[in-house]
Amino acid sequence: MFLLRALSGLQVRALLSEAIANPASLGGFRATEGVLSLVRSIRRAAGPSEHLAWHELACHDGTPYPLEWRESRGIALAAEFEAIREACGNRPIRVLSAYRTEDHNTAVGGSKHSQHIEGRALDLAPPDGMTLEEFWRTANHVAGERKVIRGLGLYGSFVHIDIRPGKRVRKWSGSRALAELRQQEADR
Ligand SMILES: [Zn+2]
Repeated sequence: MFLLRALSGLQVRALLSEAIANPASLGGFRATEGVLSLVRSIRRAAGPSEHLAWHELACHDGTPYPLEWRESRGIALAAEFEAIREACGNRPIRVLSAYRTEDHNTAVGGSKHSQHIEGRALDLAPPDGMTLEEFWRTANHVAGERKVIRGLGLYGSFVHIDIRPGKRVRKWSGSRALAELRQQEADR
């Protein structure tokens, strides 16, 4: 524990990620399944995936991402986030909104049956060096390849993705967002 305290959170995360990816790196010890599963659970306590922390999925009113959905929803959602991040050339992507309590969803004008309330949605800003249009196309490509994202929305400055249940894929784009994209295309 002393060693862990001497390291920054980021260093610990990097070490744990390395240990999971390459168990032989654990100081020459042969890692047992028990050790690996411990490493995995420490890793999961920090975040649902390598580049996401649980606090990034929390509601902006301060309510944490619900514990009971972490395994069943948060990790699946984070896997789609990682796939999009990788498809964007591993550029950092900012989460603008993830889980929302009903009250907060109403306060920000979210739709009544928003997947954000269910902890199954992310609003993502395009990474640096990528236009909103490129980002939208990339998210659509990932959704088509992996078939886990079933909700895709284009807004003026971000892309919404969600992993709603069912088989049907829903896509939408506000008229303003579409007009902005057409303008970008026309300007080229
Ligand atoms: Zn959204």
